[in-house]
Amino acid sequence: MSKALSRIKVRPLYLGRVLGIPIRAHYSWLPVFPLYAWAISSSLLPREAHGLAGWQYWVLGIFTTALMFGSVLAHELAHAVMARAEGLGTGSITLYIFGGLASLEGQPSTPSSEFKIAIVGPAASFLTGTLFFALNQALLAGTTHLAFAQVLRHLGLINWMLAGFNILPGLPLDGGRVLRAILWRFNKNYYESTRMAVRAGLTIALVLFLYGSYFFIFVEWITGLWSMIIGLILVLLLKSSEASALGAHKIRRGSVEVLMNRSFLTIDPDLSVREFIDGILEKHRAISFPVGRGGRLHGMLLLADLKPVPSEEWSRLRIQDVMRPVEQPMFINAIADEAEARALLGTNGIGSVVVLDSDGMIVGQLGLKDLKSGRPAAAHAK
Ligand SMILES: [Zn+2]
Repeated sequence: MSKALSRIKVRPLYLGRVLGIPIRAHYSWLPVFPLYAWAISSSLLPREAHGLAGWQYWVLGIFTTALMFGSVLAHELAHAVMARAEGLGTGSITLYIFGGLASLEGQPSTPSSEFKIAIVGPAASFLTGTLFFALNQALLAGTTHLAFAQVLRHLGLINWMLAGFNILPGLPLDGGRVLRAILWRFNKNYYESTRMAVRAGLTIALVLFLYGSYFFIFVEWITGLWSMIIGLILVLLLKSSEASALGAHKIRRGSVEVLMNRSFLTIDPDLSVREFIDGILEKHRAISFPVGRGGRLHGMLLLADLKPVPSEEWSRLRIQDVMRPVEQPMFINAIADEAEARALLGTNGIGSVVVLDSDGMIVGQLGLKDLKSGRPAAAHAK
């Protein structure tokens, strides 16, 4: 993400550091800040609380806008703190009008890590919103401070909306990362999951834009315009981050990546031999299985090595006791070419190789039959 963000040409406005992390605001905030303060002080507050002086409305309006900004920041800091807990650094935080982006140093290496980092943002917004509502109830219910009460309720609502919007399941939103983590957990393929989450994100952007256009023309133009702008920004962000990251990951013709089998099974090293034989081998017939966890290869399980194990040992022994620990001839890089794969398959005595991406994550498996079938590149290029 950080590489992709640095490609955005206009550098966001630097504001300072929180917890050692540089905080920046995207220029889309510049017109939004005064507009927001104006809307609060000239429309929302006078409607709900009469009789204040003009300057008092303005002070409250600016105060509300600053807290709104602070709410978005709290959301991003939640991501940053969780990223740190998961062993990733945070390069910087950039705030956009509808939320922010914490650019991580490196990618989460497991689905569960990505899930946790993504989900804490909306969770933080939901809690912040709840806190504002609770403060209003505890301090102001039944009092005559109508303007203050309105400010707190508004901030509660904004934070809940922030949580609700960001959890929509499409990239580049947090919900998109949650979706990718879930897909990745099941299909073990980061790129395929990213592609699906990008498609979901484009669909959400399109729906927001169409809904916005309808609203703009037929109902109320401000809400409509707002929705259209957010749809457009989502597409721009997608183009500059995820999609280009995928684009940079070009699949070469004749590479292992084109030929490999993407739907494969990884066996957990802690599984007992009995669980494997009864639960997995029943349904998935193969002569060798990659053993790994969190997308990392631990070794290979060969059916031939299981045969001599007496059945009374099946419950006691774990897969890691009977597998062959990982060694060079077991795996190949996704960008290697077919000749290299063929040579490896012919000599490694396993009959298949595990395909790893440049980060060492398992992305596929390749057997001799995959080479012979010679599927056309186009079938896998998308
Ligand atoms: Zn977020």
